[in-house]
Amino acid sequence: MICSKCGNNNVEGANFCTNCASPLNQPPAISANPQTGSITITRPKKFLGCAVPYTVYIDGYLIGTVKNNQSVSFPVYYGNHNIRINCGMGIGESQFVINDEYRHLVFNCPMRLGAFSNTIDINLVGYQK
Ligand SMILES: [Zn+2]
Repeated sequence: MICSKCGNNNVEGANFCTNCASPLNQPPAISANPQTGSITITRPKKFLGCAVPYTVYIDGYLIGTVKNNQSVSFPVYYGNHNIRINCGMGIGESQFVINDEYRHLVFNCPMRLGAFSNTIDINLVGYQK
C-alpha cells in the first residue's frame, strides 16, 4: 500500500505509513451536505368541516403539516422512505424513493371517507429531475 503523502510502499493492510506515520486507511469522506430532494404534498379541498391539518411523517419523524386546500414542499434526503399522513380523522401510508431520477416528487393526498375509518390516499402524480 503506497503512502499518498511520502510514497513509501507499506505492507498491505497497514494502518499507518512506516516512514512518515500518515494514516493509510482513510475512511470514506462523509458528506457534510448529503444530497437532498423534496416531496410536495397537495391537499385538495374536498372534505367540508375537516380543518384539522395533515401531519406528515417521513420515516417516523414529523416533518410538517399541510392545511386544507394547501400545497407544501418538504426537503427529503436521497434514499428509500416511508411517508405517513395523519389528520386524526384519517390516515394514509406509502413508500417512495428519492434519487437522481426521482428527485422531487409530487403527491396528491385527498381524504377518502369510509364507513368506519377514513383513508388518506397518497397518490404520486408527478416528479421533476
Ligand atoms: Zn508515508
